[in-house]
Amino acid sequence: MAASSQDVASSWAREDLASLQARGLRRYLEPLESPQGPVVRVGGETLVNFSSNDYLGLAASPSVRAAAIAAVERHGVGTGASRLVMGDTSAHHRLEARLMAFERAEAVLLFNSGYAANTGILPALVGSGDAVFSDALNHASLVDGCRLSRARVVVYPHADVDALAKALAETPGRRKLVVTDTVFSMDGDVAPLRDIVDVCRAHGAALMVDEAHATGVLGARGAGLCEELGLEGQVDLRMGTLSKALGGQGAYVATSRVVADLLISRARPFIFSTALPAALCAAAEAAVDAVETDSDLRPRLWRNIRRFSDGLRAMGLRAEPRSAVFPVVLGEPERALDAARRLREAGVLVKAIRPPTVPEGTSRLRFCLSAAHTVGHVDLALESLRRVGVHARGA
Ligand code: PMP
Repeated sequence: MAASSQDVASSWAREDLASLQARGLRRYLEPLESPQGPVVRVGGETLVNFSSNDYLGLAASPSVRAAAIAAVERHGVGTGASRLVMGDTSAHHRLEARLMAFERAEAVLLFNSGYAANTGILPALVGSGDAVFSDALNHASLVDGCRLSRARVVVYPHADVDALAKALAETPGRRKLVVTDTVFSMDGDVAPLRDIVDVCRAHGAALMVDEAHATGVLGARGAGLCEELGLEGQVDLRMGTLSKALGGQGAYVATSRVVADLLISRARPFIFSTALPAALCAAAEAAVDAVETDSDLRPRLWRNIRRFSDGLRAMGLRAEPRSAVFPVVLGEPERALDAARRLREAGVLVKAIRPPTVPEGTSRLRFCLSAAHTVGHVDLALESLRRVGVHARGA
């Protein structure tokens, strides 16, 4: 009897999973048994959580929950179609207007996720005959957006502005677009954005930045690195997510009206995907309110960032208090998995991050701090690291 097509795919999967397993790269799901937060229940255990991007503790906050619930009552759950068909609601337009004010932008356009934004925006702006210049440590969604664009992709060494300038000078292209994370997702360091802006201007290149880990964290108002450096008006496209410090789901780009209009007509994830649920728009609006009005949120996050950074340094580990993300690079996947296991036994949940999320040989623990962590939580993480004797590579 001929094998069913399912058998064929299953045999491929068995082979590939065995290979992933042998290299310590197989992944497993593990559902949360509690709401998102600084302390969570997983696998029947109560653990202090250092692996969520919920930097301001808004994901389960009362005001954000209440806004989502009220929007469900008003709009229902699903949007039923893409925004261009029948899925556009007043909640989308209200949030876009709110984000325009928050980002001090002429226009804001929502996407269903950061992944959808990045894979949609790049191919909408550049194509064959054009060139896109991408930092070597950019997020996978930017990498995929570059690939999908069919433009020539030049990957420049991480944060190396001289190399970027040289590449811009030497690479032909009808249009040139530079793209970079502002806070790098796996290292927590910050792009040299002022210099990148200057280099783009010198070469007539457009600039797109991904503020996923900076929105709600950096800047006097919490609007990201562009705000911190006063560069809002000098970056062509500023993408931010609703899924990290804003505690929800979705993403947006802050840009000019004409670019937003082009994206509405051309960005495929915007055109061909069902609109973001109204409840998530309303939740994000409440989260922006919290960022703007709760004067305790960011100071509490930064208190934790400084305390954790000081503690890591006291252990001889490299640490810069520049964002809420702290890598402890350990090398091979097994070392990171083993360290994560031992920290978990001490009550600390921190996931091992392995290739392809990070380059080969740089598997790590990635600690994400939150305003919702207490000083006691931060100290538990530090004390546990000390006790399990984690020795970072190159520390
Ligand atoms: N950009 C960066 C820098 C990210 O870290 C992430 C999320 N891991 C994304 C984009 C994708 O955002 P989302 O999770 O909303 O799809």
